[in-house]
Amino acid sequence: MQINLDDKANIFNTLIEESPMPIALYTGENMVIQVANKAMLKAWGRDLSVIGKELALALPELKDQPFLSILEQVRSTAMPYEAKEDKVVLLNDNVLQTFYFDFTYKPLLDQDGNVWGILNNATDVTELVNAKFKVEHSEALFRQMIYDAPVAIGILRGRDLIIEEANDELLKIWRKSKDIIGIKLLDGLPEIVDQPFPELLLQVYDSGVAHYGYETKARLEHNGAESDFYFNFVYDPIFGQDGEVTGIMIVANEITLQVVSKMEAAKSEERFRNFMYDIPMATAYYETENIVISLANDEMLRFWGKDKSVIGKTIAEAIPELNVQPSVDVLKEVYQTGITYHADQEEFEVIIDGKEEKRWFSFTYKPIKDSSGQVYAIIHAAMDVTKLVRLQQQKDEFLGIASHELKTPVTSIKAYAQVLERMISNEGDEKKATMVRKMDLQLNRLTGLIGDLLDVTKIQSGKMTFNPVEFDFDAAVEDIVDEMQHISSKQKIICDLKSNAIVFADKERIGQVITNFLSNAIKYSVDAVEINVATFSQGGEVILSVKDYGIGISEDMQHLVFDQFYRVDGNLQHTYPGLGLGLYISAEIIKSEGGRIWVNSTVGQGSTFFFALKTKSFRSYN
Ligand code: ADP
Repeated sequence: MQINLDDKANIFNTLIEESPMPIALYTGENMVIQVANKAMLKAWGRDLSVIGKELALALPELKDQPFLSILEQVRSTAMPYEAKEDKVVLLNDNVLQTFYFDFTYKPLLDQDGNVWGILNNATDVTELVNAKFKVEHSEALFRQMIYDAPVAIGILRGRDLIIEEANDELLKIWRKSKDIIGIKLLDGLPEIVDQPFPELLLQVYDSGVAHYGYETKARLEHNGAESDFYFNFVYDPIFGQDGEVTGIMIVANEITLQVVSKMEAAKSEERFRNFMYDIPMATAYYETENIVISLANDEMLRFWGKDKSVIGKTIAEAIPELNVQPSVDVLKEVYQTGITYHADQEEFEVIIDGKEEKRWFSFTYKPIKDSSGQVYAIIHAAMDVTKLVRLQQQKDEFLGIASHELKTPVTSIKAYAQVLERMISNEGDEKKATMVRKMDLQLNRLTGLIGDLLDVTKIQSGKMTFNPVEFDFDAAVEDIVDEMQHISSKQKIICDLKSNAIVFADKERIGQVITNFLSNAIKYSVDAVEINVATFSQGGEVILSVKDYGIGISEDMQHLVFDQFYRVDGNLQHTYPGLGLGLYISAEIIKSEGGRIWVNSTVGQGSTFFFALKTKSFRSYN
C-alpha cells in the first residue's frame, strides 16, 4: 500500500494525538504551546483552547514551580533535561492537585543549531509514586514499631551484617549509642568477634533458618570493662523478593538478673548440700508431701543402715521399718501443718550390722517454706544421744543405790539420836539435850534430801507409785500448815481455806507438794512476816495457792523452776540451801495426778505457787 506524505503527517498526528503518553511541543522564547496531545491536555486538566497560547499564561499555576525556568534553561543551553518522579501541581477540575511525572524536555534544533522548540515528553507516575509513599510510610511505621518495642530489636543488612536498625532497648543491651547504626556489626561491637555470635549470624544468613538462643551468655563492654550478660534471643532471616536472605532481624531479651539470681540460688543450694554432707550430725532433706528423700548425709545413711540408693525414694519405700514407728506420719503432719517437730531423747529400735539395737535420738523435723508460707521441704537433723542417755541412766542408778544405801544408816542414827535426847533430858542436862535436838533437826534435813533423791530416781525410772485415797482437802492443808508453822519462827502462815472439796489422790504425795511450797515460801522470804495459804473450788477443780512476800522470781526464769536441778542463781545459791529438786518432784506428782501446777511472781515482791486438782466431790455439812 502506498501512503502519501499528507497521509504520513496525519498518521503521525494521530499517533501523537492518541498516545497514552502526554506529549507537548513548545516554540519560541515564550514557550507557545504548538502541540499538546489528549493525554497532555488531560494531565493539565485543560482543553484544546490552550493551543497557541504561551505556557505560562495557559497554566498560570506553573508560575511558582521550577518548570518554566528549566524550559528557559533548556532553550538557552540546548541541553536536554530529564526528571524522574518529579512533583507537578496542576489545576484539575478547578482544584490544585499534585501529580508526579517522569518527563523530558528535549530541545529541537534548526540547521544552525538554534533551539526552535522544546519537545515535552512525560509519563504520569503519580499512582506509582503514591504507592511507593505508602510503602515508605508503612516501613516508617514498622521502624517506629521497632523503636517503641519493649524488647530489643535490630536489623542487620547484608552478609556484612551492617546495623540498619537498633532500637533503644538493643542499644541498651549492647551498651552502645546510636552512632553504631550504619556500620558493620563487628566494627560496632568488636568485643563479640571471639564469641559465637558472628558465626551464628552468618549461619542464619547462609541457611535462611532462624536461630533461637536461651539463657545465652555474652561478654559485653560496659564503662570500659567487659562483663557477662545473659539473653534469650532470636536471629530471624529477612528474605528479599526472590526468596534470598537479605538481612537478619535480631529480637533479644536481657535476662541477666534472672540468670544471676538463678545461679545464686544454685550456688546456695550447692553450699547447703556441702554443709549438709560435712556436718557431723545426721541430716536429711525431704521434698514433697510424700516425703521423698532428696538428700541424706553419710551419718544419716549409717543410722538408717542404708546406702545412697534410698535417695529419690519416699521414706515409706526406702525405710519401711520406720512405718512401725510414728515418724512417717509425723513427717507428713509437719509438711501439712508447717509446725516444727522436736523430739528429745526418743527411743528407737535400729538395725546396726544386722542386729537390732535400742538407740536414743534427739531430732528435729523442720519445715522449709517458700515466700508464700507454703511448705516445700523438711530438714531432718538427728543426734544419736544413746551415750548420753546411758550415762544418765547410770547416774540415776547410782543416785538410786546411793540414796537407798544412805537411808538405812541415817534412819538408825535418827533413832539413836532420839533415844539419846530422851536419856539426856531425863538426866536433866538441858544443854546437852538441846545439842542433840539440833542434831535431830539436821538429821531431818538429811532425811528430806535423801528422800528427794530417791523420789527423783523413782520418777526417772517410772517407778514412782501412787496410792490414791479420798480425803478432805482443806483439812489436809490445815494439818500441814500446823506442822510447818513450828518450823517457821518468823513468818506467820495465814490460811483462807474454802474449797470444801474431797479429792481422790495420793494424800502423802499431795502433802509433799504443799510442804514443798510452804518450805520454799519460808526459805525465800526470810525478811517477811506473813505467808498466805488459800484453797478454793472452781470449774470442777480445787486450787491451792501459797503466797509469800520474798525475793520473787524473774519472768524469764519462771518457766524453769519446775525443771530438775534448777536453782536460784548467782550468789544467792549459797544463801539458800537446796538441791533444786523439790519443785521438779512436785510438778511430777501433780502431773501424775492429772492436775496443773504454775507460779506467779514479781522480783522483790514475792511469789505465789499454785496447783489444781480435779475435785471428786464436796464435803457435806450436816
Ligand atoms: P530448791 O529450793 O531446793 O533450790 P526447788 O525445786 O524447791 O529447789 O526450787 C527451785 C528454785 O526455784 C529455787 O532454787 C529458787 O530459785 C526458786 N524458788 C522456788 N520457790 C521460790 C519462792 N517461793 N520464791 C522465790 N524463788 C523460789
